[in-house]
Amino acid sequence: MKLIFLGPPGAGKGTIAKIIVKEKGFAHISTGDLFRAAIKNQTELGVKVKSIIDAGDLVPDELTIALVKERLNQDDIADGFILDGFPRTIAQADALASFCEIDSVINFEIEDEKIIQRLSGRRLCKECGEGFHTKFMPPKVENVCDKCNGELYIRKDDQPESIKNRLVVYEKSTQPLIDYYKDKGLLVNIDASGKPEDVSKSVLESF
Ligand SMILES: [Zn+2]
Repeated sequence: MKLIFLGPPGAGKGTIAKIIVKEKGFAHISTGDLFRAAIKNQTELGVKVKSIIDAGDLVPDELTIALVKERLNQDDIADGFILDGFPRTIAQADALASFCEIDSVINFEIEDEKIIQRLSGRRLCKECGEGFHTKFMPPKVENVCDKCNGELYIRKDDQPESIKNRLVVYEKSTQPLIDYYKDKGLLVNIDASGKPEDVSKSVLESF
């Protein structure tokens, strides 16, 4: 299976991908990981990406596409793969279609309120970076790290106002892609509001 995962921040895409990768032996391909690996290994593309990021610029489509194309030529994708964070634009989707036939595009749907609840409960330790969640993984003592007694804080990105902005940006940039894959008959909507094991089950049952 050649899959694309689409979903807003907080939909749990990464967690679901991990479960499915474990079960099916697919490769999990995220562009963030690809950038980091290319830079670390100082590949030709990696050197280019690094100079662009260092200059504070956005990595252009053609470089991202080239990295994904290179990745999809490796042997470990024989059993299938999940593309996570790619494509982000119609231009990227068109380019992908020119060298790879995707089987299914999984669109994780979840209400904004639920995402805000999930993300705004996240807490990080100022000292050691350990993560907690006020509802799903609360520390033993409120606002104190279980591991080192450090003070917990909320990442700026996880403040309710920032989350709302991220969701607006996500929706605006992703809706064209959702329409694009719907037109091609590849889109599968999955309710992502449940537990990760239930959501991953729905995904697995969809193909
Ligand atoms: Zn700590």
